[in-house]
Amino acid sequence: MDDMRKRTWAEIDLDRLARNYRALRALADPSCKFMGVVKANAYGHGAVPVARALESLGAEYLSVACLDEALELREAGVQAPILILGLTPPEYAGALLEHGIAQTVGDLETAAALSAAATAAGKPLTVHLKVDTGMSRLGILCDEAHLEGAAEIIRRACALPGLRWEGIFTHFANADGDEAYTMRQFTRFLDLLDRLAARGIVFPIRHCAASAAVLNYPCTHLDMIRPGIALYGHYPAPGMELTCALEPVMTLKTRVAAVRDLPAGTAVSYGCTRVLERDSRVAVLPVGYADGYFRLFSDALEVQIGPGRAHLLGRVCMDMCMVDVTDLPGVSPGDESVLYGDQAPVEAGADLVGTIQYELLCDVSPRVPRVYLGGGRED
Ligand SMILES: *Cc1c(COP(=O)(O)O)cnc(C)c1O
Repeated sequence: MDDMRKRTWAEIDLDRLARNYRALRALADPSCKFMGVVKANAYGHGAVPVARALESLGAEYLSVACLDEALELREAGVQAPILILGLTPPEYAGALLEHGIAQTVGDLETAAALSAAATAAGKPLTVHLKVDTGMSRLGILCDEAHLEGAAEIIRRACALPGLRWEGIFTHFANADGDEAYTMRQFTRFLDLLDRLAARGIVFPIRHCAASAAVLNYPCTHLDMIRPGIALYGHYPAPGMELTCALEPVMTLKTRVAAVRDLPAGTAVSYGCTRVLERDSRVAVLPVGYADGYFRLFSDALEVQIGPGRAHLLGRVCMDMCMVDVTDLPGVSPGDESVLYGDQAPVEAGADLVGTIQYELLCDVSPRVPRVYLGGGRED
């Protein structure tokens, strides 16, 4: 798409992605594998270009949320191993086998159904076992009261034909907040692994560290780390900046559509919630909530225009919003404005509306073209 047609776009800097990748890898043991989490369209950064970049950087594994996301990567020619972190109905086992996609299994019934499908297809299906050590999401329950039972269920699952048990993993609920809880989860996981080893069951790839644990708890790295948000240059929580220098990969930009001089007393945008207190210069930005720019930002967030900052005026509309540029003389139609970027951190927007930067990044909508920089390519 030529430059002037882009009303709002997301620049994705693959050189920054590469530096983040290397910085995170450097935190782990050289023998530790790296699973790049590219679910949700790589947290809004574009699954295929990000997966290709990670593959060429040497990431041993990729992971996605669901079968469709895995197939998108395979159809684009991505060959790295892919793990589906969510569930896939066993009737789609054929697609997993055909495309060489590994599946998470979190209960014995699913294991049995996948085993039957793989046996019928005459081809082993690669699976990773998920255990629930305290997240209460997917996986075989494995708190202190259920450790022995979990080991027994896993022994039966591992005896099923047709499945190649490549990995075992768990997920931390509070690795950015509560060390004691995280270590309790980790201890449960290690305890389970010991009980399995006593039964002669050993999984080649044991993994549990998403970004927060990659940064906070090196002891949890085990055989593979599994970062998502950190790869995209964001800390799971404030205060981890000293551990590792990360750079935001996405810069969300728009371009001033119009500049208007409006007198004091004029109401701005839907609901007339904002009435200008002074004669003002108002810039119209062609970005709105249909682009994933939250309506909750209305009248509150600032954008960057050149070296200055401009405050949102009134409600964010579906496709446009207005900002106050009275104190930024010289702003003209066509000027670039940064919505999320180094000088306008996405974290500020997330804090403002009481959510996390993950959600803002994932919500940058498909209407917003992604423009790839670096990585040996311009577009
Ligand atoms: C999303 C996800 C990750 C990545 O989490 P980040 O906090 O983005 O690093 C890792 N593991 C599982 C199971 C996930 O669902």
